[in-house]
Amino acid sequence: MGEYLRQASAVVVGTGGLGSASSWYLALAGIGRLGLVDGDAVEISNLQRQVIHSTTDLARAKVESAAEKLRLIRPDLKLDLYPVRLTGENALSILAPYDVVVDACDNFATRYLLNDTCQVLGKPLSYGAVFRFEGQASLFFPGRGPCLRCLFPEPPPAGSVPSCQEAGVFGPVPGLIGCLQAMDVVRHLTGRGETYRGRLVLYDARLMTWDEVILHPDPHCPVCGGGRKAEENGERTVN
Ligand SMILES: [Zn+2]
Repeated sequence: MGEYLRQASAVVVGTGGLGSASSWYLALAGIGRLGLVDGDAVEISNLQRQVIHSTTDLARAKVESAAEKLRLIRPDLKLDLYPVRLTGENALSILAPYDVVVDACDNFATRYLLNDTCQVLGKPLSYGAVFRFEGQASLFFPGRGPCLRCLFPEPPPAGSVPSCQEAGVFGPVPGLIGCLQAMDVVRHLTGRGETYRGRLVLYDARLMTWDEVILHPDPHCPVCGGGRKAEENGERTVN
């Protein structure tokens, strides 16, 4: 399992709360190569949930700050740093080299861009999202299950849902969801156990409850065509 992981790669989009945990535990699990994508700099208000950064990193590029910590625990880890915001122009070229994509972002525009780009590339996408005391996770696998747009066809109108910064996020929640994402990526890459493909895991930190919803592909989904598009197109899928 360890040797298999050393040959594998993932790109983590966002080095905030979710990305702090997922990149850390993917590194500790022994993954061979990690890409980190984030155009932001570390701010003091980030630190209650973005545990890979510290007060000595304020104003540094988040990818540089995160990379420094990851090198301390894994000097042999191959790291690719992208200190940019993911856009429609750069998404294909940034995501293409990796086996798996980890959604650790904090906004709907990037989340839908990730979903649609992963469908084009045939890349599995580890989905994670947090809001206040709640978190959720899944794995969208092109050609083998539903995608984000099967669940929520369109992002909510801009400004209708407060951001993490506006609404507040209880720090341990993204830590926990990021750990779940790292574990799911390991399951996917090694073929051991059952991934979150076709399942949405829901966590509520106030009630301390876990729920799981079975997801079905939407046959009218314009992006994945009901979870079949990649296979019909003969696009490459991993595993
Ligand atoms: Zn879909």
